[in-house]
Amino acid sequence: MSDAVRNRLWIANEWVDARAGETFPTTNPATGEVIAHVAEARAEDVDAAVEAARGAMADPAWRRMGPHERSRLLWKLADALEADADAIAALETADNGKPYFESRKVDLPSIVENFRYFAGMADKVQGATIPVSGPFFNYTLREPVGVVGIITPWNFPLSLAAWKVAPALACGNAVILKPAEQTPLTALRLGELAAEVGFPPGALNVVPGFGPTAGSALVRHPGVDAIAFTGSTEVGRIVMREAAETLKKVSLELGGKSPNIVFADASLKDAVRGASTGIFYGMGEVCAAGSRVLVERAVYGDFVAQLAARAEKMTVGDPMESTTRLGAIVSEEQLDRVMSYVEVGKREGARLVTGGERTTVNGKGNFVTATVFAEVEPTMKIAQEEIFGPVVAVIPFEDLDDAVAKANETIYGLAAGIWTRDVGKAHRVASEIQAGTVWINTYNQYDSGSPFGGYKQSGFGRDLGWEAALEKYTQVKSVWVALDR
Ligand code: ADP
Repeated sequence: MSDAVRNRLWIANEWVDARAGETFPTTNPATGEVIAHVAEARAEDVDAAVEAARGAMADPAWRRMGPHERSRLLWKLADALEADADAIAALETADNGKPYFESRKVDLPSIVENFRYFAGMADKVQGATIPVSGPFFNYTLREPVGVVGIITPWNFPLSLAAWKVAPALACGNAVILKPAEQTPLTALRLGELAAEVGFPPGALNVVPGFGPTAGSALVRHPGVDAIAFTGSTEVGRIVMREAAETLKKVSLELGGKSPNIVFADASLKDAVRGASTGIFYGMGEVCAAGSRVLVERAVYGDFVAQLAARAEKMTVGDPMESTTRLGAIVSEEQLDRVMSYVEVGKREGARLVTGGERTTVNGKGNFVTATVFAEVEPTMKIAQEEIFGPVVAVIPFEDLDDAVAKANETIYGLAAGIWTRDVGKAHRVASEIQAGTVWINTYNQYDSGSPFGGYKQSGFGRDLGWEAALEKYTQVKSVWVALDR
């Protein structure tokens, strides 16, 4: 095991074993090899993490830390992540299976930028003075919520942790991070780096473990004030139900079945490229993946042929190879799920144009080829359910109203893409689509400053962006002062 792999719980700036002494293996999905046996947090370990986090909220070292100092620490954490980016990206790729190119050139730089963006926010969290009736001075304070439990999925392990950890710390909260059991390693490294740059004990704790045990214990714990969750809609429902018991503040970033809408007047070349990266980037294990492509009838045949040709160029390979475009699917279980949807698609009568094959690299690992289904009916399972794999359903539409109706015909509302040269049409469709993010003539753009989150059953609350962070990670206190006595 390399030096870079940390495998114990990170509580109060110390490595500790799980109370019950249990561990679980985390594997490299490209090779099947066990990378590390990681300490498995259970309820009693979550108790210890909560105690550490509450301790931080009571400790002047954190509670009274000046905002400029908090900002400086976040900036230093960004520097530390940047300095160690090669190793962290390699760790992410080993744990998750995504191409190293994606971890190193996309994830890590955006994580670093994210910490810098929220470093800039730390000393600008401020209230207002309010002109009220009567002889009173009224003002508001923006205070931390307290202990924030952060539960993250396996598809962008460190990125999605950063989206929540950075603003939560910027606003002065103490954090307990429960990474996904498939990909706990980079989160542990983040905890360690936070201590190295000077965050006091308990400000950031990391407790790897399973959802129904560690995750649920965090959600139900009376000492946790808020839960910020990214994961499946199914688990999101459980989290909301369980958080109700203690009336925690909850935010949920959940699944999607995002439409990419291609009008006949679009640049077909750009639309094909956008639709391709929209579904195949990150092996389609992306909550905002453009997994439904709606194409205007006049260009449908051409579009399908060109998309299939691009799909066939998506080289499946060793994630560490620079030529690889599709890495490994995170686990065998997830690959089984993807393959079962390929079967469902065929059974329901959609046309499998290309892909749909389980494969290996050097005789090992969980891989699948880029898959395109055409002649998909909007009611089919492959057009309605989140597959979380490189499988796209291409659906024809007749006109703008039909496109909007089909785009909105889902329980989800995370993101959407629109491809057209007609600026009026683009904005009209953008306003009619029920989704938290709309991309016009592009796809999969993110920035620390631009809010991201769902409409409908894709959840509520936003990650990224200034206002979203204030909303999620602070609470407002209104203070009244009598001026006449
Ligand atoms: P995905 O489909 O991306 O695996 P999940 O919703 O299953 O998404 O998992 C996202 C995160 O939620 C993971 O960290 C997982 O351990 C956690 N989780 C799963 N079940 C629960 C639960 N009952 N309570 C709290 N967290 C859970």
